[in-house]
Amino acid sequence: MDESTENSMIFFQVFDMVDIGLVILDKDLRIRHWNRWMQLHSGIDPTKIKGSVVFDTFQNLKTTRFTNNCKTVLTFGNFCFFSQKIHHYLFPFKPISSFDSQFDFMQQNCTMGPLRNENGSVEYIFIAIHDVTETVNFELKLMEMNLRDALTGIHNRRSLETSLKREMERYKRYGHPLSMIMFDIDFFKKVNDTYGHQCGDFILQQIALTIEKEVRDQDLLARYGGEEFCCLLPETSMEAAVVLAERFRKKVSQKPYRYQDKSVDVTISLGVSTMSNETTTGEMLLKKADTGLYAAKNAGRNRVMVET
Ligand code: GH3
Ligand code: MG
Ligand code: MG
Repeated sequence: MDESTENSMIFFQVFDMVDIGLVILDKDLRIRHWNRWMQLHSGIDPTKIKGSVVFDTFQNLKTTRFTNNCKTVLTFGNFCFFSQKIHHYLFPFKPISSFDSQFDFMQQNCTMGPLRNENGSVEYIFIAIHDVTETVNFELKLMEMNLRDALTGIHNRRSLETSLKREMERYKRYGHPLSMIMFDIDFFKKVNDTYGHQCGDFILQQIALTIEKEVRDQDLLARYGGEEFCCLLPETSMEAAVVLAERFRKKVSQKPYRYQDKSVDVTISLGVSTMSNETTTGEMLLKKADTGLYAAKNAGRNRVMVET
């Protein structure tokens, strides 16, 4: 066997063994090679697809970006990168495992580059496809966890602060109303002391559940501290926020929570604030809701107070 035959024999075995997708296109964007990985994920046999224009099977690739990149590779011998962060995928394949996946299609990072002939001129384009679905799912899960409170599952303080910043930008641009409700469980220490810490945890979870049912999708309910919660309310006037806060208060006070065989009564105190000529920053919005909350505590608890 001469050296070149041996090389191509080795090359084709490696081509089919690697754990990435490899496609080779000619100048007319016809598929010349389609490795085993591509066959496995597309269900298309190389003999069936070889010789056809890539768009015949993958119409989704008929984009200016893909075709321009092919031209750039062929003309200048450049390399191009298709990031999952922007394009999600080039080839619409089913993910290997859809269990726990947030995606209907395999997420791919793809590289495209030139293959040259013996004279050094670009004859073919190779496309390498990396399956990054698992990594991206994991990344998204971590990002989500980073914004959630472990006990109650609602947003955490970090998430609230991020959203508050974003809503402040919107407020400055459009001037739409923006309000906040801050609330704290009354005599919560006594709940822990009487019924135990586990019962206290249960009450925190139940209150989060109760209140979450009362808010709209665009509102953000967060656990701000131990037994202190915040609700950021875009497009909500002071009057509407007070009505909502009163509804929160009633919902919590009306239901004794059942923990094991015990019935536990809890109430909350609430402070309400709104962006205005006097309240101009996110910090002030928080501070005023907090001041309202402490006024509600001082006035006897289980009530709503507004701080303007
Ligand atoms: P007030 O009406 O003035 O708010 O009285 P309070 O007893 O609720 O306030 P205080 O600040 O004295 O106590 C808050 C309690 O909340 C003390 C703390 O142990 C409890 N707490 C904070 N975080 C958690 C938690 O994650 N789980 C449980 N079970 N308790 C918590
Ligand atoms: Mg409390
Ligand atoms: Mg507190």
